[in-house]
Amino acid sequence: MILILPNPGQDIYTGRFAPSPTGPLHLGSLFTALASFLHARSQLGVWLLRIDDLDTPRNKEGSVTAILECLEAFGLHWDGSVYYQSQHLADYDYFLEKLAQNQFTYRCICSRKTLAELFSDDSQNNKHNIYPGICRNKSIPANTPPAIRLKTEPCTLSFHDELQGLISHNLAKQHGDFILKRKDGITAYQFAVVVDDALQNINHVVRGCDLLEETSKQIYLQQLLGFSTPAYMHVPIIVDQDGYKLSKQTLAMAVDTKTPNLTLFDLLVLLKQNPPDELNGVSVSELLDWAIIHWCTIELALCSAISL
Ligand code: GLU
Repeated sequence: MILILPNPGQDIYTGRFAPSPTGPLHLGSLFTALASFLHARSQLGVWLLRIDDLDTPRNKEGSVTAILECLEAFGLHWDGSVYYQSQHLADYDYFLEKLAQNQFTYRCICSRKTLAELFSDDSQNNKHNIYPGICRNKSIPANTPPAIRLKTEPCTLSFHDELQGLISHNLAKQHGDFILKRKDGITAYQFAVVVDDALQNINHVVRGCDLLEETSKQIYLQQLLGFSTPAYMHVPIIVDQDGYKLSKQTLAMAVDTKTPNLTLFDLLVLLKQNPPDELNGVSVSELLDWAIIHWCTIELALCSAISL
């Protein structure tokens, strides 16, 4: 078992918020942004903003402006200029090539149909969603555009999450050889996030619990590329009354920016910060000043999800 300890060194706390521009922020994403912001600012840290805009078919026009305006309205001012993944395509290719040179990757031409058949239920209704390495040792014809997969090893990788405690995953068994670059040429989230976090010198990642499962893949990639591993904190996700995660897929509404101070107060309640009643109605900056000084994650650690 490999236990990964964060390696933030003596560097100044550097965190980030990395929304995908697939629509305006909803309450769930703003909740994560606020947690990430407060955690950084409470440690006098830097807080960066990255726009995860690689998945171009899913990007929605106008989302970036809406996201930036929403963060501004809620007083979540980021440091420096906004980092756009779409401006770093050469960086992803550079590091992908490094992995290829070390034979950590292989080209995969399995079609969607092959994968759909593989991942469908078998006669005993067992679900298979681990790619069984069909193309690992195949020679791939040059005229077929391949996906690039990472070879995973059957080792257990463990890390300490600041809220969720010790998390262990067996990469090969639980995730299999995962994709770094899709057949359509789009760099996969798993890979881009590792390169971006390294290029931005991120040493603290605060994000939603829905990405907890993905973290071991990212740590594995950091090790292969010689990057340091940030500290991780996965906050609970917000669910609706039916228990579904707020997301664009469940048609979660865009955050209303008309009365940000009142929404911010409600978010601090959801974040288990227990803001005193007399702060309900004060300005956004007054509320944030209070929240930065009083930021505490003890009660948050007891929740797996937070219902509206
Ligand atoms: N862009 C990702 C999302 O919106 C978050 C990436 C991350 O925080 O690592 O879900």
